[in-house]
Amino acid sequence: MNNSIIPARFYGHSLTPLFNERAKKVQEAKKHIRYSDPWDINPRARPLTSPSPYKQEFWKQNEALANAAELSEYDDILCCFVFQDENERRRFIVTYPEDFWTDCERMPLEKRVFYEVIPELSPCFLYYDLEFEVDLNPDKDGVRMAQTLIHVTCEYIAYHWKCSCDRRAVINLDSSRPGKFSKHLIFSTSDFAFSNNYHVGYLVKMICSDLVDYVSRESAQHDVLSKFSKESLEELFIETNKGKKLFVDLNVYTKNRHFRVYKATKWGKHSHLQQAPECQYSWPKKPKSKEMEIFLNSLVSYMPRKKKLQLLSFDQDKKSKILSYSQHTEMKQNYAPKEYAKSPYPVLDKYISELIKPGKVRDSKFFEIRQLIIYEIVGFRYCENIGRWHKSNNVYYIVDIVNKTMYQKCHDEDCAGFISDPKRLPVEVTFYFEDECDPLFLDLNDYNAKD
Ligand SMILES: [Zn+2]
Repeated sequence: MNNSIIPARFYGHSLTPLFNERAKKVQEAKKHIRYSDPWDINPRARPLTSPSPYKQEFWKQNEALANAAELSEYDDILCCFVFQDENERRRFIVTYPEDFWTDCERMPLEKRVFYEVIPELSPCFLYYDLEFEVDLNPDKDGVRMAQTLIHVTCEYIAYHWKCSCDRRAVINLDSSRPGKFSKHLIFSTSDFAFSNNYHVGYLVKMICSDLVDYVSRESAQHDVLSKFSKESLEELFIETNKGKKLFVDLNVYTKNRHFRVYKATKWGKHSHLQQAPECQYSWPKKPKSKEMEIFLNSLVSYMPRKKKLQLLSFDQDKKSKILSYSQHTEMKQNYAPKEYAKSPYPVLDKYISELIKPGKVRDSKFFEIRQLIIYEIVGFRYCENIGRWHKSNNVYYIVDIVNKTMYQKCHDEDCAGFISDPKRLPVEVTFYFEDECDPLFLDLNDYNAKD
């Protein structure tokens, strides 16, 4: 399989020349990569600062999510986005968020109908979808209501988990249009997130039911809500065709939820999510690209700074709980052990085994969709990043069947994100790969050859 999306299908034909130009540049750059013999280990190999581009398109969400989960590394996280075309067909794109944004920025605004998929059971930030019909609520001050809700939410988090945050942690995106007030709030907090979006849903539903209860009773007392004036809390209720309710949409905390991303619109609505003027999020002083910064930070399930994160959750009795990110990951792994196919190429297995003597291949995992094989190694811990053996942590090799190359990565935390220079595999080995080229792969090659 090829790594790239067929551009005409993904972007529409108008952007194809632009994509081709980019592909050409990549091809040019690749010519300058020096390949060496696997034994010719270069101790000065430079860690790559950014992940190599990856983009894969799927019709089925499950396949896309599995692909993103399989190929995400500790520091290089792939996300799954949904693109909806004018016929309301949805396609799923797995890619690095930075690359996704770069491509988005080249698209005409009206075609940016994109959603983030919030993967089930994955950590995510707290988010709100707020809305009301302006005609039914002519006197409502949506901006003030949102500020009140942020304040209330922060007080709940402080009360239940002793974590502090305020409006400077909240990205406030607005897509109001005449007649409709509409906002997304994303609590892009730096030191905590939630175990998954069900837990976000539990919290939001608890806040909402407390609000209903508190506002409806004359002399109610509440540990959190009593800190607020009743008037400001009553203001959060809006008129709808079905009666009075809160302006909070409670339906957005479901399995693999699609959540519209920054600058995206619904088809034909011209209601792009923009940063609200009253947004008080503390942006970094000098971001490389402010737009990219807004996009990345407003993603609900993308958390590259996760090492430091505490994950908030409720237990079965709805008691609040805090876990570290690694505890969460362990729990998730125990909960759903993954089964992978082994390498289908005995000649390649033999070649790798020879390379790492006296070490051994402990396990191989074949990722069929992306045509990658990962070899877990024991007894041979030479890491190109440090130019010597690790004392305890193991290294692993990744073979890229499509590009016929292999490279080394490392389980040592200090080497997180390190990828060695790719090394070309010998013809005696790659000879056996050729049979595996299916017609789709050949088509894609022909396509790329045209530019
Ligand atoms: Zn290492």
